[in-house]
Amino acid sequence: MSTALLLLALLAPAAPPANNAPSPGSVFGFEPCAERELATYDEIADYFWKLDAASDRMNLYQIGKSADGRPMLLAVISSEENLNKLDRYKEISKRLALAKDLGDEEARALAKEGKAVVWIDFGLHSTERAHAQTAPLMAYKAVTEETEEMRTIRDNVLLVLIPNINPDGTALVVDWYKKVKGTPFEESSPPELYQKYIGHDNNRDYYMFNQPESKTIARQLYAEYFPQIIYNQHQEAPFPARIFVPPFEDPMNPNIPPLVMRGINLVGEAMTRRMDQEEKTGVVSRLQFDTWWNGGMRTAPYFHNMVGILTETGHSSPMTVEYDPEKFPKTFANGESTSEPSTYYPNPFRGGTWRFRDSCGYMMTGSMAVLDIGAERKEEWLYDIYRMGRDAIEKGASETYVISDEQWDPGTAAKLVNVLRWGGIEVEQATAGFSAAGKSYPAGSYLVRGAQAFRPHLTDLLNPQVYPDRRLYPDGPPEKPYDITGWTLPFQMGVKVEKVLEKVTVSTSPVDWAKPAPVHIEGGTRWGYAIDARSNDAFTAVNRLMKAGATIARSRSALGDWPPGAFVVQTGEDRITFAARDLGVRIRALGEAPSDLVSLRAPRVAMYHGWGGNIDEGWTRWVLEQFEFPYTSIYDDEVRAGGLRARFDVIVLPEASLSRMLGGLHEGTMPPEYTGGMTPKGVFNLYEFASEGGTLVAMGGASELPLEVFGLHVRNVTANQPESKFFIPGTILKIQVDNKHPVAWGMPEEAAAFFSHSPAFDVGREPTRLEEQRGIDPGIPEGHHIVASYPKENLLMSGWLMGESVLTEKAAVVEAPVGRGRVVLLGFRVQHRGQSHQTYKLLFNSLFLPS
Ligand SMILES: [Zn+2]
Repeated sequence: MSTALLLLALLAPAAPPANNAPSPGSVFGFEPCAERELATYDEIADYFWKLDAASDRMNLYQIGKSADGRPMLLAVISSEENLNKLDRYKEISKRLALAKDLGDEEARALAKEGKAVVWIDFGLHSTERAHAQTAPLMAYKAVTEETEEMRTIRDNVLLVLIPNINPDGTALVVDWYKKVKGTPFEESSPPELYQKYIGHDNNRDYYMFNQPESKTIARQLYAEYFPQIIYNQHQEAPFPARIFVPPFEDPMNPNIPPLVMRGINLVGEAMTRRMDQEEKTGVVSRLQFDTWWNGGMRTAPYFHNMVGILTETGHSSPMTVEYDPEKFPKTFANGESTSEPSTYYPNPFRGGTWRFRDSCGYMMTGSMAVLDIGAERKEEWLYDIYRMGRDAIEKGASETYVISDEQWDPGTAAKLVNVLRWGGIEVEQATAGFSAAGKSYPAGSYLVRGAQAFRPHLTDLLNPQVYPDRRLYPDGPPEKPYDITGWTLPFQMGVKVEKVLEKVTVSTSPVDWAKPAPVHIEGGTRWGYAIDARSNDAFTAVNRLMKAGATIARSRSALGDWPPGAFVVQTGEDRITFAARDLGVRIRALGEAPSDLVSLRAPRVAMYHGWGGNIDEGWTRWVLEQFEFPYTSIYDDEVRAGGLRARFDVIVLPEASLSRMLGGLHEGTMPPEYTGGMTPKGVFNLYEFASEGGTLVAMGGASELPLEVFGLHVRNVTANQPESKFFIPGTILKIQVDNKHPVAWGMPEEAAAFFSHSPAFDVGREPTRLEEQRGIDPGIPEGHHIVASYPKENLLMSGWLMGESVLTEKAAVVEAPVGRGRVVLLGFRVQHRGQSHQTYKLLFNSLFLPS
């Protein structure tokens, strides 16, 4: 530093007082939430840095990067004194949350000394535009306001404020708004997903932590701050309510500790009361949003003994709207009146003007109520999280889950361990062999002990969900769950996790991250190598080898104790070792070429990408990238143009209805370049593509396209089933797999399928009347193959199933011929939300089918 600069630095005043903090309006040039104005993500981030620089009541950190590389920020707001001792308060929060080596007395003292950690995040779902704009207002108020209430909050609470939990989405939505503002499409949403891969499912990733944003947040929740209260903002209120505030609807997940639910109800009560004290009408509770499902930003923390709050505020448009009460629906979905006061809707919204800033105002009120009760009862929040952790440790004292090396796919077992680690679960690795429940396990086995504070989380993820049979009336239609009903990870991932009801005693070391075993090649003589197709990551190795130009084949027969489908490659040891690095795949040296080979060539894969943002399309893209499959996204204009066979070997249609693919976004709702779909011409071009030798892979509901149009002898048996008889809303089912068929190579003979309102198939033409009279089955037509099917009975593995008989002995996955090519119908969700690893191979193998 030069002398002049040094002098300047010495003369510069200490950090200016809080009242010099810039207001959001002074930085943006307009008040946040002003009509038809949206601040961009960059502007919001810039505001937070300026506020941080101007105030000693806020620490701002960059905590990670979004999928598109934007910085993610976290602000801690509290009194100057508290921020000076931030490390101490974080340590207290952590010790109480983990409840390890801590007695009640010490916990009491820590709760007295500590500060409540209250988390409020904004911006998760980007088309819900008001919360991203509210974040700067909330930060400014918390930092600068000099009321007694706010001082009490700052003295007793560490407010962990995430200005924007999905920066890419806000960037996309605000850019789009600036483009369409003043056009007939001003109210439209962008034609793409608002998170690079998963759009709205960014609130379905909080136990799996697939995306970088979820991972970043997981670190802050379960390794850094351990908040006792989490408030997650949304904007889809059940119309005409202006906001949904907890208490939630049933059913309640039984793994959630009672004190969490009581805490939710208490905070909800504080919020709804404050809304009415401020004459904010239209506040509704106990509707639609339940606490069964795990995986959301507010729900996954329940299983970590944290109180998770969600609000859904209405009116996300920056335009002012007059709401006409004459046009309101008469009742909510649960049958309660929208005009008569009721226990959970005592002050109905009567219509009238609703401005953008009103929506932001409801979020400010909600946030203030959460902070206020956080401060008022801070000792209780701190002690209760300890109490729940302590009880969990006691309950799990004689419970251990063992993940040994006895795995179909060892690399995926390591991935499961790491999923638990992201969720704050402690995992150990045995450094010696041991026996438990009469069975011996080798050194290197992973142990997950029930005796830990976050036991509800591991109980929920590692065991089957038993969903209560809930009907609108006895034997009536189902009362629909808010989201899926079963997600048991050992089933979805195909990992063997053994639950041992004893406290296993063995020397262990703590696991930071599980790493797959280093490359080990069995056997000696070197004609070439085989890679066991039971591992998902065999496909990663093969994609790397193909990229490097290696010639690869697959073995149609079993290779020793390996099932059919092993990859065979003639290459040097260096190259195969390099390709298989960090994958934990089984590799064997071969003395000579196996006899029964089919050669592979790198497939030219197209992913169909319709406008409007298809979450399943995004998840499919994401899964393909994880396993290093090259692909090209194709849009409607390319499908309409045809000539597809010259460009591609495989076209993948992600989950979508036929009408959506045909018609796309409706004319008049979007600028014309995004409307119109693939049209009948495009559908014909897909038929022509398959007829000319291509493989069309139809996932889930997209199978409607080939079934309706290609004249296959295949019928969807779940179409037109009444919901009162057949209802499977996100459930894990047992399937039988023909793993001698190339689409199922590497799969076990029995597997778990994630089924969510999915099709299932009857294969064969309808019997003629004569055949029917004589009981003759017309049989399976030439060239059709049932690759996987539902067994005779006991389909349910996890979640809720109504109407099993519709599915029993029906096909789940089918290959059917079309001219010189084929379609592959993947009925259930083979890559659901990046979780159902066990069935990824059905997709991967389909890409490798010979042309
Ligand atoms: Zn939302």
